Amino acid sequence: MGKIIVIGAGQGGLVAAKHLKNFGHDVVVYEAESRENAAHPWRDDIRRAVFEEAGLTPIPVSDCVQKNKWKFVSPDEKSTLKVPMTPPLEEIAIDRRYLLEYLLKECEGVEVHFNSPVENLITDGDKVAGVRVNGKDVRADMVIDASGYNSKFRREVPKKFGIPEPESDDKFCAFRGYYRADLNKNLPNPPCTLYIKHLGGVGISWCNLSQDNVADVLVGRIGSLSDEELERAKTSLLKNHDFNTGEPIVERRVDISLRYPAGVLVADGYAIVGDSAYMTMPMMGSGIESAMKAGRMLAETIGTDCDFSAKSLYPYQLKFYKQFGFLYVFVDVLKRWALNLPDKDVNWAFSSGLVTDDDMALLSTDENAKGLSFLTILKKIGILFKNFSLVCRAVKYAARGLNAMTVAKRIPKKYDADKVRKWSEKLDKKVRGKKKR
Ligand SMILES: Cc1cc2nc3c(=O)[nH]c(=O)nc-3n(C[C@H](O)[C@H](O)[C@H](O)COP(=O)(O)OP(=O)(O)OC[C@H]3O[C@@H](n4cnc5c(N)ncnc54)[C@H](O)[C@@H]3O)c2cc1C
Repeated sequence: MGKIIVIGAGQGGLVAAKHLKNFGHDVVVYEAESRENAAHPWRDDIRRAVFEEAGLTPIPVSDCVQKNKWKFVSPDEKSTLKVPMTPPLEEIAIDRRYLLEYLLKECEGVEVHFNSPVENLITDGDKVAGVRVNGKDVRADMVIDASGYNSKFRREVPKKFGIPEPESDDKFCAFRGYYRADLNKNLPNPPCTLYIKHLGGVGISWCNLSQDNVADVLVGRIGSLSDEELERAKTSLLKNHDFNTGEPIVERRVDISLRYPAGVLVADGYAIVGDSAYMTMPMMGSGIESAMKAGRMLAETIGTDCDFSAKSLYPYQLKFYKQFGFLYVFVDVLKRWALNLPDKDVNWAFSSGLVTDDDMALLSTDENAKGLSFLTILKKIGILFKNFSLVCRAVKYAARGLNAMTVAKRIPKKYDADKVRKWSEKLDKKVRGKKKR
């Protein structure tokens, strides 16, 4: 059996580690942070079924907390849309520290070293052959890079494999804070309020009353978030939500991926998983699910095999792109369109009746969506054509998205480093709509 090093004790790394251990490999995880600090000190939403889909023990119902209800606010703050609730406990708000402990329990038999930041990769020619950590070179048959969005290891992989780096507009620069809530003040109903293009910024902000009765604040902008912009957004959220006392419990800045998955996920003796491979559906908060499922896919691709060449690992990339990647590509293109919409178009979409609370409720499940009557659809088309230029732009981007998705689906079936790199470059141009990168 092989010796496998995993960099990072996030969801992607630990799920891969658990399954690889079960296949009989010798697995060691190095995590930069301490056990207490490795997980974010807040809750995030996830479908409960994902745990079983990733081959893990189901989370006991007694440990599950229902995801909260949301409302979206238009850029001019004059209109709102309510997002309907999913069926009970279909989606849960999971405490990240609970999630870390749960995954560590799943990883019985795996060596996990906290306070152990990996310094760099070791290579033998074109093969990744281990890592330097805690002042020592540790050799291995394979290294899994699960070190998150700002992975520095991608750049150390021999260039011939072509692992891509993100561009500046691929990044969502977020600030998140938990603040003491005054429960005697006006409590929000629904508990979560999300501001689209808040204060004219390209991004979102939210202020929620969390399930733990604290004020949960997020301010996120594409590309960069200056201290001034952050302060302005925080002040506005304080003014609009008086249950938020502004007394901090915890505050963190963190970068989130906003792009489609890397077009190259493997090299000789190396694979990337989760955020370090940008495996989130842009703007849809699906990163935990993607990281866990990809961790399982990677482990199952390796199985009991001890050939860790890019060629042997490639079916992992193929499977990921066939199941999820192609769809994320489409969403990425639509995201580029949506983020660049002028505020007036977004305000119009909220106020024109194009989308209403009732539509949101109807569209919340496939079954309900069938209930949209022919008359309602005709009415929507009528409204849509009142903003013809918006329709034209939407059609243009949808066509580009479909085109990029077609390229994504034409991923090379067999591994050839050159062909995969070229396919990845072509896909990138399609997604970004650029002639040259
Ligand atoms: C504010 C916020 C809200 C989010 N909301 C949601 C949500 O609601 N639902 C959802 O599904 N996703 C959400 N996400 C995204 C989700 O958190 C990520 O997509 C997911 O955690 C990625 O998991 P991962 O295992 O790839 O990486 P991570 O969880 O980022 O883990 C990487 C680990 O690697 C460690 N590391 C880094 N460098 C080194 C090094 N040199 N040596 C050793 N270890 C290292 C880090 O300390 C970290 O523990 C949110 C993210 C943020 C920031």
